[in-house]
Amino acid sequence: MRVLVVGRGFSGSLVSLLLADKGFDVTSADPNPVIPHCTGIVSRRFVYTLGIDHLILTEPQRLIINIGRKEVLIEAPKKAAVIDRERLDEELREASEAAGAKVIKKRVKEITPEGHALIDSREKYRRIIDAEGAKRSLVKRFFGELETFPGVQIDAYAERDDEEVLIDLNVPGLFGRIVPLGDNKARIGVATRKNHRKYMRRLMKRAGFKEEISRRGGLVVVSGPRGGLHKGKIMLVGDAAGVPKPLTGGGLAFGLHNAIVAARNVEDPKRYEREYMRIMGPEYRTQRILRTAKDLSRLAPPIGFILLHLASKISSRLDMDFRSGIRTYPSEDISRIRSYL
Ligand SMILES: Cc1cc2nc3c(=O)[nH]c(=O)nc-3n(C[C@H](O)[C@H](O)[C@H](O)COP(=O)(O)OP(=O)(O)OC[C@H]3O[C@@H](n4cnc5c(N)ncnc54)[C@H](O)[C@@H]3O)c2cc1C
Repeated sequence: MRVLVVGRGFSGSLVSLLLADKGFDVTSADPNPVIPHCTGIVSRRFVYTLGIDHLILTEPQRLIINIGRKEVLIEAPKKAAVIDRERLDEELREASEAAGAKVIKKRVKEITPEGHALIDSREKYRRIIDAEGAKRSLVKRFFGELETFPGVQIDAYAERDDEEVLIDLNVPGLFGRIVPLGDNKARIGVATRKNHRKYMRRLMKRAGFKEEISRRGGLVVVSGPRGGLHKGKIMLVGDAAGVPKPLTGGGLAFGLHNAIVAARNVEDPKRYEREYMRIMGPEYRTQRILRTAKDLSRLAPPIGFILLHLASKISSRLDMDFRSGIRTYPSEDISRIRSYL
């Protein structure tokens, strides 16, 4: 079966790897894989599952959440890690090639539900997997738009405690955050609809900002899957499918799950959508409710403070990725991925 994968970011590379490993005839196209706009925070379980300890930059032990004028401290030892996201994507790209995926370093200009793709010329594929990211420019006309927040983040030299992540809920929209990168560096970012500069300045001050190293921006997806996950011969995966967590916009944990379910069902797109939503539907609903609660907390900080305080008491029992119940990834697919990393 001839499959075209559009995009060689995290999701596209994962799907290409799994399909090429199963013997599908995979071509993956990307003119120039983007350097990911990603803070790199993942659960310790994600790191353990993929066997990517070598990509850990820091392992924060505490979470401080700012709300109104108050702060809540949540002890979270061994829960989260900050990973080298750029390197992770590079390793996955190398792995997908090692598994046999062919690479075209070109932009896909058009795809259709009938299976046509325009790169240099128009060609037909049995399946097109669209992993083009949050803008989903190629497929917007078939699936509509996703709800996103524009995010900005800078890496900077700063006086930060390497054990501490700060989440600022006073930033309207999604978040403001300061994440330690080690070696006196921090990643400072906001995802909001306006006044990025104002909120960034506030966080830079709080981070003990000294000097900027680099700056990036990108869209953080919060809608959850919208408009379906397939149409005709097209299947959507990753950010293009809207899979990141509605609560935080984190896309890697659910993206891994999504890529596995997509690769397993490449011959039956309807089953892909059904299976993914059966497992993850309750999770998206739970996280949407939690985000609404978070937004309301911002309007009434004293109530938000009490809620957060209660949450901090049970935080050791909360799973960082899956709020509605612990899930495990299908182990044979994981061991296939691990054997290449
Ligand atoms: C500011 C910010 C912070 C984030 N922080 C975190 C975090 O801490 N933890 C976490 O889990 N997630 C985080 N995320 C989300 C995470 O980065 C995304 O979920 C993840 O990058 C999605 O991977 P993807 O492969 O689906 O898409 P992308 O990484 O966007 O990759 C899409 C690829 O498709 C290519 N492409 C696009 N159009 C075409 C075309 N026409 N033809 C060929 N190729 C094309 C692009 O060049 C790109 O390489 C963050 C996102 C943002 C914006």
